[in-house]
Amino acid sequence: MSFERLGLQAELLDAVAAEGYTSPTPIQARAIPVILEGRDVLGGAQTGTGKTAAFALPILQLLNRGERGRLPRALILTPTRELAAQVEESVRTYGRKLPLRSTVIYGGVGINPQIDALRRGVDILVATPGRLLDHAGQGTLNLSRVEILVLDEADRMLDMGFIHDIRRILKLLPHKRQNLLFSATYSNEIKSLADGLLHEPELIEVARRNTAAETVTHVVHPVVHTRKRELLSHLIKGGDWKRVLVFTRTKHGANRLANQLMSDGVSATAIHGNKSQAARTRALAEFKSGAVRTLVATDIAARGLDIDSLPHVVNYELPNIPEDYVHRIGRTGRAGANGMALSLVCLEEEELLTNIQKVLQHKIQVEKVPGFEQESASASRQTPSYRQAVARRDTRGAKEGFGRRPSSRRDERQGNGDGRNFKRRG
Ligand code: AMP
Repeated sequence: MSFERLGLQAELLDAVAAEGYTSPTPIQARAIPVILEGRDVLGGAQTGTGKTAAFALPILQLLNRGERGRLPRALILTPTRELAAQVEESVRTYGRKLPLRSTVIYGGVGINPQIDALRRGVDILVATPGRLLDHAGQGTLNLSRVEILVLDEADRMLDMGFIHDIRRILKLLPHKRQNLLFSATYSNEIKSLADGLLHEPELIEVARRNTAAETVTHVVHPVVHTRKRELLSHLIKGGDWKRVLVFTRTKHGANRLANQLMSDGVSATAIHGNKSQAARTRALAEFKSGAVRTLVATDIAARGLDIDSLPHVVNYELPNIPEDYVHRIGRTGRAGANGMALSLVCLEEEELLTNIQKVLQHKIQVEKVPGFEQESASASRQTPSYRQAVARRDTRGAKEGFGRRPSSRRDERQGNGDGRNFKRRG
């Protein structure tokens, strides 16, 4: 399959080639022709599947053929500022050779430059819901010419409580328009949003529902929680990892961990919602350039970060919401590259792990790290409830799930059969 066969015009094909894309990803192959036909799309695709180009390329082509004015004709809503900035950057990159203008508006930065940009005229507007409504409320934005609406990472927008904002925004748009909704997960809430929004949509699902990318190997390292940081430093240094994204549950925890890693001699920086936009952009740039090898992030801050094919993503703490695990590891194993998602799991997190495995629909392989297994083993001796939990899981595992076979690569690394499934442990 080639981009030429999808019906894209020469300027867009040039841009895609300049990005080094040789063939369309599955979501691109399926969505681009449908969007070019003007149809609505319900896209089940997580970050890393190439979904941004899947909607940006056909939107650019459709708008380029239409009549230009001063008011936005495409509106792309995203849950976070980072994602908004990245999507707009992609739109700009792909549309380099077309006479279309795009701009991005989000909160946390001055509103006046945004007002100026809107006044100068915009074809494609990328925005987060809150700031968009601020503009609409104060009369600096007119959405009456929007022909195409995109809700990107709609599930995350709902998680973040944007449903009322979205409904208010919908009221500001012309009734007749093309709607594209992308979501990594497909809950009842998404279904009801889609039902009210989309007209005879083409359903395009590229990864199995609620399933993480197949190219990702998942591993759990059991560890007592007081030794998590030590284990993390050990893994990063021992494996000579150059770029690793680490997730913590809290902003405070992210800061503390980044500082502790630095005192262990591992360069690290934190990214979370309490940081200014400038500080977040700086942290991301340092990480992307390789100046800093560890980026510690909270779920919300990391959402939508466009970091190419990260080899390692670490769950320093498991997320409370199992779907967040899927979002987190969407940062690795991108565009066919292999990735590893490692979770440092203490006894207190066993239940969270069980829930995550239900969402993934498979068990995650457990590997004890030499030198750290003692603590978790002794912990299991000290707490009979842990042994019972393992025993319960063993019987359940036999009925419910299957453990992923360790890859041969890891068999070698583990040497003597340390890689085990929960099923086989105990
Ligand atoms: P997205 O899912 O939109 O966040 O895209 C994930 C990453 O894949 C981005 O860094 C894109 O630059 C990259 N990408 C998108 N389309 C392709 C393609 N057809 N071939 C290779 N890489 C791509």
